[in-house]
Amino acid sequence: MPDLGIPAGAAVVTLEGVSKRYANGTLAVQGVDMAIGQGDFVSLLGPSGCGKSTVLRMVAGLIEPTTGRIGMAGAAGGRMADAAHRPGGDVGFVFQEPTLMPWATSLKNVMLPLRLSGMNRGEAEGRAAAALASVGLAGFERAYPRALSGGMKMRVSIARALVTRPRLLLMDEPFAALDEITRHRLNNDLLTLWQAERFTAVFVTHSVFESVYLSRRIVVMAARPGRIVEDLTVDAPYPRGEEFRTSADYASHCRHISAALHRAMGE
Ligand code: ADP
Repeated sequence: MPDLGIPAGAAVVTLEGVSKRYANGTLAVQGVDMAIGQGDFVSLLGPSGCGKSTVLRMVAGLIEPTTGRIGMAGAAGGRMADAAHRPGGDVGFVFQEPTLMPWATSLKNVMLPLRLSGMNRGEAEGRAAAALASVGLAGFERAYPRALSGGMKMRVSIARALVTRPRLLLMDEPFAALDEITRHRLNNDLLTLWQAERFTAVFVTHSVFESVYLSRRIVVMAARPGRIVEDLTVDAPYPRGEEFRTSADYASHCRHISAALHRAMGE
């Protein structure tokens, strides 16, 4: 059994010897061993093309590994895909783009996963309104996506991912397209939600600063082929806020992680 980085028994997701070769022959990910602990906040950090999204999509069950095994605690047969596709799902996914339905209000967008799982309209409306309130969008239930800013659209997308109360929230560079102030606000709100709802978070980013601010654990990846090269802990306490962002401790963690990223990029 490889050293997966956390004690046995506490993992929500495990990847063992996972590789992915796409149909065009690209070996996107090779030999990934990792266990993600219950309630942890883990960032996958690395340069573009190092396989971060590929790992995340495999964990979500959206694509299959070529070799190796991905398991989720409690899923039928230990298979992640089973959990991801169960109605009311155990897994939420936030993409880089908010991917909202333009013809539907924010409330209807957030209700969608609940309605698809068969929940009646009244209950789904109540749950969706609560999810919108939890991301700071109370009062915007009837707004259409075109009337919302980029940050607000991303908030709707997060509400839609959390409305089913998933155990695992997977995020693929969700804030990359936002301006810095909005990004900081959403980072803060994401941490507040994570602490309140106690889901396990896996966050893909290529930003050292964002990964340090958010994460308890940072898995650094390198490219050609995509693989894990370092697995580091950010041992600063939560809740984290602006005080942490401007602290010497934060700067020191950023320097440390930045050096790891440069090593990963062979510099
Ligand atoms: P990252 O998220 O770190 O930018 P990706 O997982 O998107 O990396 O991509 C890893 C490698 O796999 C890259 O070389 C990319 O071009 C390739 N790749 C990603 N998706 C596909 C695909 N569907 N078909 C072929 N190659 C792909």
